[in-house]
Amino acid sequence: MLKNNGKKITISIASTAFLCLLLVLVAVQHHRVQVNGGPGEEDTGTRSLQGPDSVAADGAQGDAQVKKGFSAYFTKLTRGRREADRPAQSSVSATDAPPAEDISASDIFIAVKTTKKFHQSRLNLLLDTWISRNMQQTYIFTDGEDEELKKKIGSHAINTNCSAAHSRQALSCKMAVEYDKFIESGKKWFCHVDDDNYVNVRTLVKHLSQYPHTQDMYIGKPSLDRPIEATERLGDNKMRPVNFWFATGGAGFCVSRGLALKMSPWASGGHFMNTAEKIRLPDDCTIGYIIESVLGVPLTRSNLFHSHLENLQQVSRSEIHKQITLSYGMFENKRNIINMKGAFPVEEDPSRFKSVHCLLYPDTPWCPPQVAF
Ligand code: UDP
Ligand code: MN
Repeated sequence: MLKNNGKKITISIASTAFLCLLLVLVAVQHHRVQVNGGPGEEDTGTRSLQGPDSVAADGAQGDAQVKKGFSAYFTKLTRGRREADRPAQSSVSATDAPPAEDISASDIFIAVKTTKKFHQSRLNLLLDTWISRNMQQTYIFTDGEDEELKKKIGSHAINTNCSAAHSRQALSCKMAVEYDKFIESGKKWFCHVDDDNYVNVRTLVKHLSQYPHTQDMYIGKPSLDRPIEATERLGDNKMRPVNFWFATGGAGFCVSRGLALKMSPWASGGHFMNTAEKIRLPDDCTIGYIIESVLGVPLTRSNLFHSHLENLQQVSRSEIHKQITLSYGMFENKRNIINMKGAFPVEEDPSRFKSVHCLLYPDTPWCPPQVAF
């Protein structure tokens, strides 16, 4: 009996100790969850920075830029030229990941931002190429009436009645209309692009199908290598510094419906313009501010989105068909275009979009018979 009791006592001491240890572990774990998941959680400052040295160097650069005046600062920060020298990393194929949701192109709302003066020079190229295959999901947001455009795309040509100036306010005005039209459309994904972007809708669909549209998703490519530093105007002349990442509008970005709905108090109706005024930054930065700073949802980076602020020559020739967006432009008086042989020479197809289109849709009537490029 005594022996047995002794055993019992030993067992109960051991189990109490074990229970205590378990409680301590649970408490520690719980504390960590609270620390990491609290409402003030803002790991944007550390999530993707490239180390303290680069931050310090960049911070100093940023200060110098502020002194050069708003315009220089603005250009550098919002559409950072630094990207131009960075090699595009080899892209992770969207097809590698299993789909989370079986979506099709019709589940995506693609908003193209343009302005009347670019209808001829830029928009027509898009209408002849990628938009021609994706009329149902593409909406053009412009600032003037154009009967020719209406004939081509009907009610998908949306006159925002925003000013045709390239001002912060005019651009935010267009983004506000894009947002409202997307919400109205009931589609699962909102994607924004500029009128100098080619969109490969097939890869876009594959990429977005990796994520449920009900989850909070903000996907794109930053043009800066650190979060943007802004000042939030709180009213009563109070200000607060805020740091957040944003996806550059010139490369295109996408937002899931789940997240877009949460953005509504800061983005719907006239709220977007007010929010943009609060931080005095352009449309794409305002989107980043609402998502990262206000809602605490991190940007998911993708190297498959490309703006003309990066060196487009670095996009691998053999992987052009895997990219989601492409662009073209000038950099230091030189053409910044993707490097591809393709169906047309550069003189006939300076943006390379016609050649890209023939690569992706070789059955297009105006594409030369399929040859190995
Ligand atoms: N844009 C606009 N209004 C303007 C000038 C430009 O809506 O007065 C649009 C343009 O159509 C494009 C985007 O803003 O979709 C970016 O313009 P751009 O490519 O000329 O400049 P970037 O910022 O890329 O250097
Ligand atoms: Mn551009």
